[in-house]
Amino acid sequence: MILHKDIDKVLISQEEIENIVNSLAKQIEKDYNDKEFIMVGLLKGSIPFMADLMRHIHLDFFVDCITAASYGSGTETSGTVRIVHDMTVSVKDKHVLIVEDIVDSGHTLSAVVNMLMERGAKSVKICTLCDKPARRKVPLVPDYSGIEVPDAFIVGYGLDFAQKYRNLPYIGILKPEVYETT
Ligand code: 5GP
Ligand code: MG
Repeated sequence: MILHKDIDKVLISQEEIENIVNSLAKQIEKDYNDKEFIMVGLLKGSIPFMADLMRHIHLDFFVDCITAASYGSGTETSGTVRIVHDMTVSVKDKHVLIVEDIVDSGHTLSAVVNMLMERGAKSVKICTLCDKPARRKVPLVPDYSGIEVPDAFIVGYGLDFAQKYRNLPYIGILKPEVYETT
């Protein structure tokens, strides 16, 4: 494996991610076997995760995306969530499975879930690769959760710092000097 020079330590290896994705896909396949559903990825963080996950689910389903921007102070998001790019198919009377990179405060996801329910979705469930429950501000429990992560800032496999490192095939922690020079 080629380790990026800015990475201090790998938290979740490529192999570990593959195993997690496989096991999430199996659960989803079982639960949605008899349901028509739309998989909705939250851009841009969910790109690699959704691309891998969808290829392990051997069912027919729609795929769509939402870009949500949430504002807050510093590293903390707030309840104010703006839809920058919306879906192109209707969720009315459809089962929706949201795919997300990480659930932190839960603000982004709870706003998106509420919006989709208001639009008449039959059900809205959440599949997240990483969960940081220690940071939760709103009561939100993902229906499918890959791995619990500690209260640290992580990058890779979709997760960015200043829009970089999304392409890393693993998830890791940045060297402290990276923050100081950005
Ligand atoms: P929430 O609304 O749950 O606080 O925020 C979720 C979003 O914050 C995630 O989709 C992700 O974009 C970002 N985020 C939260 N924790 C981390 C982290 O440790 N690393 C990175 N790169 N982004 C994070
Ligand atoms: Mg995100």
